[in-house]
Amino acid sequence: MKITMIGTGYVGLVSGACFSDLGNDVTCLDIDEEKINNLRAGKIPIYEPGLKEIVQRNANEGRLTFSTSYEDAIAGREVVFICVGTPQLPSGKADLKYIFQAAESIAKHINNFTVVVQKSTVPVGTAKRIEGIIRSKTSVDFEIVSNPEFLKEGAAVKDFQNPDRIIIGTESERAKKVIENLYRPHSRVNRPILFMKRETAELVKYASNAMLATRISFMNALTPFCEKTGADIKEVAKGMGLDGRIGPRFLQASPGYGGSCFPKDVRAIIDFLESSQVNAQFFRAIDQLNEFHKKSHLNRIRKFVPELKDKKIAIWGLSFKPRTDDVRESASLTLIEQLLEQGANVSAYDPEAIENTKKVFPNIEYSQNPYEAVNAANAVVVMTEWDVFRSIDLNKVKELMLEKNIIDCRNIYDPAEIKSLGFNYAGVGR
Ligand code: NAD
Repeated sequence: MKITMIGTGYVGLVSGACFSDLGNDVTCLDIDEEKINNLRAGKIPIYEPGLKEIVQRNANEGRLTFSTSYEDAIAGREVVFICVGTPQLPSGKADLKYIFQAAESIAKHINNFTVVVQKSTVPVGTAKRIEGIIRSKTSVDFEIVSNPEFLKEGAAVKDFQNPDRIIIGTESERAKKVIENLYRPHSRVNRPILFMKRETAELVKYASNAMLATRISFMNALTPFCEKTGADIKEVAKGMGLDGRIGPRFLQASPGYGGSCFPKDVRAIIDFLESSQVNAQFFRAIDQLNEFHKKSHLNRIRKFVPELKDKKIAIWGLSFKPRTDDVRESASLTLIEQLLEQGANVSAYDPEAIENTKKVFPNIEYSQNPYEAVNAANAVVVMTEWDVFRSIDLNKVKELMLEKNIIDCRNIYDPAEIKSLGFNYAGVGR
């Protein structure tokens, strides 16, 4: 099929590349010229396991092309995906300006029946608004379908190839046939495809992200209690997770959820519930709890290093989770800001996210490896559970550090083992 992805970020590039890998003819369109020029030159703008090979293979074989021209990328397509960003406005509302700009541009260039698929995360009712914009500007036939994306950064390619479910919001039989055809490789291997109303599909996305954020905040809300009483949150999670009704996933205490989705999507829910005069207290609590928790790690450091001025604090992990270079809303950024306010010197290491962090904190020290980061440090804080930190040589770390303090915000180490090596240890909720 002839497909265009509007917006070539985490969602548009991964899905576009993977659709081309299934044999479709895909154009990835973006208004960011530098991004498109880099992609044409074979440079992948994001780190995502497995993506580079798929992009290069399909670009070499001519199935995947990159463009900044709506004129070239819209005419003659069967399916056009909207995958632009929907960032958060200061009020918490989702900013839909990129979505509506894309809709206007589609209306200008569409010239045959096209299924326009809304893949970005958008408030309930947005597909209808997009339909109104395009309908008011063209007489060409089209359908708007909602198909929210559930891929996880760090496992995005795998998630595209083997999704838990595909959610399609449409009541049009004509659009349904096109979408069934597009996702046939998935239905052939029994991946569930659920058809529903557009509004329902739009809400499935927000409800799913809010549920995951709730599980994280639920466990993090118990961490101060565990720290006061001697209970271990890791064991609590294990004990809870074996209950079939609860299940083990997403029960880890952590530095707090981050990334480009959970924080903004929870806030967008608050906004659209409150705009409809519906009580949003539950979702507000999840958001507030997370923000509070993200700021609590400074005190964990202070337990061992009470006066932070001119002390060197090493941060291991900058991305909001492993296997991505995305630092948006990462708890590491909150902590670095607090440490700088206290006059501490920060040395940071991350396998993939240093370049993105430099855009926020150009003047902190960045290290080539985790050992360099802890050299002469008063404490090290594990913020992201990259494998390299799990398998670190702790004896070498001990020799390099000025003071032997480990604050393990991902609970990746065994406290008894760390203490037996001569470190002070603080986890989250243990
Ligand atoms: P992103 O910021 O990585 O990419 C968005 C891209 O859209 C940018 O390259 C930008 O230049 C481009 N763009 C903006 N306006 C444009 C326009 N008018 N025409 C063409 N291109 C335009 O965003 P992302 O992380 O890929 O997220 C996209 C959407 O998908 C968001 O709504 C997000 O909430 C949702 N989503 C993201 C993820 C994720 O893990 N990143 C997962 C599921 C859903």
